[in-house]
Amino acid sequence: MIIGSHVSMSAPEFVEGAVKEALCYDATALMLYTGAPQNTRRKPIEELHIEEAASLMKAHGIPMEHMIIHAPYIINPANSVKPEVMEIARTFLVEEVKRTASIGARYLVLHPGSYTSTDLQTGITTAIQQLNAIDSELVDDVVICLETMAGKGSEIGFRMEQLAEILEGLNSPEKFGVCLDTCHMHDAGYDITEFDGILDEFDHLIGLSRLHVIHLNDSKNPCGARKDRHENIGFGRIGFEALHRVAINPRVAHIPKILETPWVKGSAPYKTELAQLRSGRFDKHILEELGHE
Ligand code: FE
Ligand code: FE
Ligand code: ZN
Repeated sequence: MIIGSHVSMSAPEFVEGAVKEALCYDATALMLYTGAPQNTRRKPIEELHIEEAASLMKAHGIPMEHMIIHAPYIINPANSVKPEVMEIARTFLVEEVKRTASIGARYLVLHPGSYTSTDLQTGITTAIQQLNAIDSELVDDVVICLETMAGKGSEIGFRMEQLAEILEGLNSPEKFGVCLDTCHMHDAGYDITEFDGILDEFDHLIGLSRLHVIHLNDSKNPCGARKDRHENIGFGRIGFEALHRVAINPRVAHIPKILETPWVKGSAPYKTELAQLRSGRFDKHILEELGHE
């Protein structure tokens, strides 16, 4: 099972530290941000301990494609209102793609964005234009994976049809793919207990070969709530059974699954959650003892 969680990348060991954290959880995949998700301050690539990280991955038999990078939220390709936001969406995304390549990772997860004061169709059209505008600056060995969103606020990309429309509008479709987030899809109104049906629809609209990352999260809210509040595996409205079936589904066995569930009273729950997903046995008492309500 190719599965892990988001991990932090912080001083002094940066990417190497992120890999060590993932190994602590017995993970076989990991996801990290290249700096704070809310800002554009980034360390020079030479300081990130990339070679040490790569040898550690190799020593543990984890291929580099199982290290996922998440672009920061300040990149909003759907914004057509603020020129400075539009500028950052292009320049910073190009830099993130280059950073992803330098780290040696292949998949960069990106939120398709929010249309703010315009409308859904304008947001989709803007995202297509913005992504096409940087086309020539993207590199061949990095795939930007547009994430399925919850539809909170003015987010675009909460229906598979919307992601399909964006992907169809791109000049270099081979540089783009999709990241499927179970919490977001549930919040957008998809029934995760019918995951094979979701995969059929995905295959029909987008093509399953374009799915590269799965975010495996439970949700605090009912299906269709459009809230985007993640919950620990088995504690939310999707439930352990449905999420475990996603984790073991043979059609997505080759795709890294990343947990972005909340910490429990200051401790990372991932070692427990990963072990339960591997064994298929859920025991809510383990996280309750850490203080989960
Ligand atoms: Fe995300
Ligand atoms: Fe996600
Ligand atoms: Zn989310």
